[in-house]
Amino acid sequence: MFILALKVFLLILYQVHSESDTKSYTELNGCDIGDLADEIASYDTDVRDIIDYVVSGPFKGKTYYELAKFVDLFGARPSGSKVLEDSIDYMIQLTRQEGIQDIVTEDVEVPHWVRGTEKLSMVQPRIKDISILGLGRSVSTPPNGLSAEVIVVRNFDELAKIPDKDVEGKIVLYDPKFISYGETVVYRSQGAAKAGAKGAVASLVRSIAPFSINSPHTGSQNYDDNVTKIPTAAISLEDADLIRRFYDRKEKIVLNLTMSSTYDTKISRNTLIDLKGTNYPEQLVIVSGHIDSWDVGQGAMDDGGGLFVSWAAPLILKRLNLRPKRTLRSIFWTAEELGLVGAYAYEEKHRKDNHKINFIMESDEGTFSPRGLVVAGTPKARCIVAEILKLFESINATTLVESDSPGSDIAVLIQKGIPGASLHNANERYFWFHHTEGDTMNVEDPEELDLCTAFWTSVAYIIADISADIPR
Ligand SMILES: [Zn+2]
Repeated sequence: MFILALKVFLLILYQVHSESDTKSYTELNGCDIGDLADEIASYDTDVRDIIDYVVSGPFKGKTYYELAKFVDLFGARPSGSKVLEDSIDYMIQLTRQEGIQDIVTEDVEVPHWVRGTEKLSMVQPRIKDISILGLGRSVSTPPNGLSAEVIVVRNFDELAKIPDKDVEGKIVLYDPKFISYGETVVYRSQGAAKAGAKGAVASLVRSIAPFSINSPHTGSQNYDDNVTKIPTAAISLEDADLIRRFYDRKEKIVLNLTMSSTYDTKISRNTLIDLKGTNYPEQLVIVSGHIDSWDVGQGAMDDGGGLFVSWAAPLILKRLNLRPKRTLRSIFWTAEELGLVGAYAYEEKHRKDNHKINFIMESDEGTFSPRGLVVAGTPKARCIVAEILKLFESINATTLVESDSPGSDIAVLIQKGIPGASLHNANERYFWFHHTEGDTMNVEDPEELDLCTAFWTSVAYIIADISADIPR
């Protein structure tokens, strides 16, 4: 009884803190993977070789150097743009220079939303310019803009309680407190649809970020088919707070909003780079990041870092002559930002071969100091990954975080039952810069990128090479 109670307690404890270093993970979960544990431990020297090669050897600083060259040359790479396609061609060339020839691209029809003029001014209670960034797919205002009174709500419940007649003709400002990105982002992604349904003429959202230096954060949003599409944009935390204070003082706030944009579709491409497996070339371990970005900043962090650590993995293994038994595939997803468009297209195209994906990885939440992995899969799958993470004590990357939906693009495949993981890293400041003009090389650090590259390459190599498949 006591043991059972203890187990239940530990289980509860574990669920509350669903993050633990792998030693306590394997103990807490009673992991027993038999001889495989010894086999995994034997990769110790390969891991050391990869880390040495990347952190202090010939590859030192290379990830940062190539990433900087890339984002300086292309800058932002929005879905549907020519610059995105040029950047894809560049990455193919860069990879070919390494003697890797197994590269294919797959066409995908992607959204092409182009930001035009955007201007927001407060006209009452005082004149003030307000920085904005329109949200993805936002419709335009009339050419001369629109002026309307503002109502401020913290959440959808508050909006629902206001009679429609008091919302009609107004601008709704969502002013949610940032809890986590996942919990708060609904006010960006669904705000316009819900405000439009109540007759608002436009909607604004407090940027989905915990910190701000007057920087609005853009992002995707979706209209409802049967609701009038209204223009929608993000404002900075500072201006949201200012408007909130006026509102709480019962002052009438009037804003003038002008926005223009165009929207159509274009053909883009997912890029697949294979380092063919020696024994089971049809079996895949995938590493990935998305090559598109928002149209502001340089997309260095989101997701240039993830793109480049995934680009580096097959290349480093080739250089070190570490050929895994299964094929290591590196994927550069297109049009992630407008709704995981590349990932959905890949899943659909390769659906009959989904069973051949042994494990799928993506880095899309920063490439700061690696801490470990966020892992989806069965308990046994997680136990195997936990055993692998034990090899990364020297770089402090042994943490396993449980999640049923890690990553962004790969969530599309993980939902189909494929085990996978995203990079767990020291990304506490990720959402300070996310989807802003501040997403530049200044956020990146060469040594942290080296650690991510070494970690990413090593984990992918071991999973692609061990005798056991990752169970489903
Ligand atoms: Zn991203």
